[in-house]
Amino acid sequence: MDIRALLDRPTADERDAVDAVLGEPASAWEGGAFSPLDGHVAYGGHATRARRHLLLPALHAVQDAVGSVSRGALGYISERLTVPPAEAYGVASFYALISTMPRAETLIHVCDDIVCMQYGAGELMAAVEHALGPPGATGQLSWAPSPCLGQCDRAPAALSHAAGRGYANHAPAAADSLSGVEFDELPIGLIRQDPSQLRLLRHIGVVDPTSLDDYIDTGGYADLRRAIDMGRESVLAALDASGLRGRGGAAFPIGLKWRGVAEARGDEKYVIANGDESEPGTFKDRILMEGDPFAVVEAMTIAGFATGAGKGFIYVRGEYPVAERRLRHAIDLAGEAGLLGDDVAGAGFGFELEVRRGAGAYICGEETALFASIEGLRGEPRQKPPFPVESGVFGKPTSINNIETLVAVLAVLEMGADAFAAIGTERSKGPKLFCISGAVSFPGLYEVPFGTSLRELITMAGGIRDGGEVGAVLVGGAAGSFVDRSNLDMQLTFEGAAEARTGLGSGAIIVFDDATDFAPVLRRIAQFFRDESCGQCVPCRIGTVRQEEALARITADRMLGGMSDERERLDDLARVMTDASICGLGQTASSAVQSAIRLRLRGAPW
Ligand code: SF4
Repeated sequence: MDIRALLDRPTADERDAVDAVLGEPASAWEGGAFSPLDGHVAYGGHATRARRHLLLPALHAVQDAVGSVSRGALGYISERLTVPPAEAYGVASFYALISTMPRAETLIHVCDDIVCMQYGAGELMAAVEHALGPPGATGQLSWAPSPCLGQCDRAPAALSHAAGRGYANHAPAAADSLSGVEFDELPIGLIRQDPSQLRLLRHIGVVDPTSLDDYIDTGGYADLRRAIDMGRESVLAALDASGLRGRGGAAFPIGLKWRGVAEARGDEKYVIANGDESEPGTFKDRILMEGDPFAVVEAMTIAGFATGAGKGFIYVRGEYPVAERRLRHAIDLAGEAGLLGDDVAGAGFGFELEVRRGAGAYICGEETALFASIEGLRGEPRQKPPFPVESGVFGKPTSINNIETLVAVLAVLEMGADAFAAIGTERSKGPKLFCISGAVSFPGLYEVPFGTSLRELITMAGGIRDGGEVGAVLVGGAAGSFVDRSNLDMQLTFEGAAEARTGLGSGAIIVFDDATDFAPVLRRIAQFFRDESCGQCVPCRIGTVRQEEALARITADRMLGGMSDERERLDDLARVMTDASICGLGQTASSAVQSAIRLRLRGAPW
């Protein structure tokens, strides 16, 4: 490949960071030509190009070590992987957590999204700005506003990154602690239900998430043994009979998906755990990955066994450092115990598992964008078909499942398909996790049977805090729709949500009280989609910007005492984005705004 190398050279620290991921340059010849720059780094050749998937890990390594990715570091990574620097820059600049400009040694991302907004994010940012100056400064310590950090159960939230020290979550965050950043791990979010009564959350706070022995002593890995004894076909049949559907938003039957990969042609197949939950208001997968990492590893191993995939990736949200550490540790221990590797548990099949870290791009939760991210490309969704079961990551048959779905597979195997299917309703089966946040007394993660009503869930979370009334509830996160008080008896099922003109999405339930002015809420949601659009297709790239501009004009007009006629423009934009966008982001970017208009919420432009 002909690449035009950058003339800037990496520092020793940057070079070491890249070499730690890519290995020392093995020889002066890796199948191509010598670098004209220093004569010993080689480039070109199929073997080198096949390592393109290490682009994002290499960028992370530099960013972790020195705080940003300089031109010299980018050039060195480009040479080592034979990626043209312009393309590598395109990837680096795609991700919010990778900085291609010099930045402060320690950068604090302060969440200003719609849940933290209710918990004083505005005041927190003002105090941080007072202490540290305007956002984005260089020097030792600075800050920047951030979309949802997945800590909505303990808002307001912040995430710090210090060069050479790593990432740390702060929640609830306070201005004085942020100006003297600590790097302690936060405890896992609070589970307010009795774990012995739960299926999906039963290990949380009960099993030591760093101990394989503890996990096995409490029944861990019995489901892998069960799956091996049952055989692949019986596992797939049990999943079909259980009625388990994906918990990530699309609600696709998991048995059908796994069978599709198992029956796909080709020896090279993959399974992927999608732990990139970035939907505002969603934090359930974080709690599962932090609190029960061995269950995720075990479920992935079963996925490998049942689909015939020899390799799996767990793609973890970049904002979840504890989850990433715990999963890497769990994989190491499982490998040492013979529960991963060439001959898993002596059962004659091989399965390897690798953790990949996201880098602050909501769109990478979309399955095909996630594949692109693993492959070392910009995280841009692809047209379907072909569907992932035929052509997924690296163009190979792939099953991609959300973390909660994988943990639910363990419940199916342990309880049996019939018992699992007996929970819930006819079309929505099994236990389900909901992240409830916002104006309730006890925000947190709750496990309930499908069919529980929204009112019951809010009551479990202590009702509206400070004795208020429900104003509206955003069901399904920013990509979902608002429902009002008249819908509190809606059943939390796939069909119940559809009846209430919303969707369960990722299981995010964000509650607003009756004192809420929804104008800034809608503006923040619109801003979120404007920022997170990957920009690949016009309806979404332009539509999300125009939507946010229209809401800004409406807010300004309102302040001047009038309401402009932008409403019609919003309706047009919604139609175009919904009908003509490539992926779910553009298709749902107007849902919350449109539902607020329909329900005539206070401050919405109806
Ligand atoms: Fe990208 Fe938006 Fe198009 Fe999806 S709809 S591909 S996020 S531009």
